[in-house]
Amino acid sequence: MNYLRRRLSDSTFISNLPNGYMTDLQRPDPAQPPPPASSTPSTGAGFFSSITNVVKQTAASAGLVEQTQVTTPKKFKILLVIDEPQQEWAKLFRGKKVHGDYDIKVEQAEFNDINVVAHANGTCIVNMQALRNGTKVVRSFKPDFVLIRQHAFSMTQNEDFRNMIIGLQYGGVPSINSLESIYNLCDKPWAFAQLINTCRKLGVDKFPLIEQTFYPNYKEMVSMPSFPVVVKIGHAHSGIGKVKVDNHTKFQDIASVVALTQTYSTTEPLIDSKYDIRIQKIGTDYKAYMRTSISGNWKTNTGSAMLEQVAMTDRYKVWVDTCSEIFGGLEICAVKAIHGKDGRDYITEVVGSSMPLVGEHQNEDRQLIADLVLAKMNQIASNEANAPQRPTTVGPKGGHNSRRHQEWCWPPPSSGAKISPGQLSEPGKSIAVSK
Ligand code: ATP
Repeated sequence: MNYLRRRLSDSTFISNLPNGYMTDLQRPDPAQPPPPASSTPSTGAGFFSSITNVVKQTAASAGLVEQTQVTTPKKFKILLVIDEPQQEWAKLFRGKKVHGDYDIKVEQAEFNDINVVAHANGTCIVNMQALRNGTKVVRSFKPDFVLIRQHAFSMTQNEDFRNMIIGLQYGGVPSINSLESIYNLCDKPWAFAQLINTCRKLGVDKFPLIEQTFYPNYKEMVSMPSFPVVVKIGHAHSGIGKVKVDNHTKFQDIASVVALTQTYSTTEPLIDSKYDIRIQKIGTDYKAYMRTSISGNWKTNTGSAMLEQVAMTDRYKVWVDTCSEIFGGLEICAVKAIHGKDGRDYITEVVGSSMPLVGEHQNEDRQLIADLVLAKMNQIASNEANAPQRPTTVGPKGGHNSRRHQEWCWPPPSSGAKISPGQLSEPGKSIAVSK
């Protein structure tokens, strides 16, 4: 409801829709007064008419209300980038074309600022909050491609955006990395299970995976064969939830904390570490880094540390190449390992397209990611161009020739039924549909 309230008070919501951005869905009903020209506190009537607009939009994208077809063919592709605002992705795509004649419009937002509505007919509408001239506006668009550079899940601040990943997957939006792989990387032990398989296949010499034990909850965290160990609680990033435990008493204390979190945990031997290793792969570009703690923290990602690029070896290449094959393929990924004072390596984790970029070559890496996205968008566009013509399933008036879609829609678009904007008069009431 708060979401609807925000939309209501946002007077620029409709007026700010650029050409081609679902303008037909937000057009005021002829029988209704035009939307207010300026942002004013919501009255009861305005509030409900705003709900109506939102319902209208949702219903329209579901094929339940009449809408005018956009007649001019769309000459651009919309690329949605999920990333923080400091990273300006639009400039990397300026002047670039998809399949020779489509411009690229970059829409960038953080997970927090988007919402997704997806339909089984393949329509996926992203509602995005953005700042325009200091005012918050909401834009709705159908993304043609998505690049995800933020973690979809972290237990740190209840940052769980897996529902957005599900929505995008449901709407069939192509992406880098695949949405399937992003979803699968949302639980570190689930991803580690893949590494266990890789280690079994290649052998521990070629793929030296760290020993690890998984506990679904605190109950079995009773004893450990040896100390010190590292306990990693739940799914979090930046060293959060990782605790060094020296003895049995402390282990019991940590187990009691895990009991409160109601999540899983893993334990690993604490490696007496010389440095951390990170091998990254972006498309066919490989880089290897070594990170050494300066402040003496056992977690090199906490406190100050020194990062150096090191030579890519065949051994590192095997690690990252085999990791890039998991979950149907990871175009962007990195393998993390610890190099111990005993001279041995211990692989700890694989990360996907949300991996933070490090070192001096971040701009180059960002460009490599943009090139990958462009190549994939081109590939999709040429596949579409070469595919046999099929009836479109986007617009309910002209395009819904698909019988399957008509059966799923209630009432079927052919029945002529529509939701009238005035029909939802009370929040929480079900939508009345008339013939
Ligand atoms: P990030 O978000 O930076 O990837 P993270 O939350 O995934 O971090 P880890 O990488 O698992 O956390 O651990 C943080 C740091 O702690 C590592 O970079 C490494 O320096 C250290 N570390 C992790 N596991 C061990 C271990 N078993 N033995 C010794 N040091 C470890």
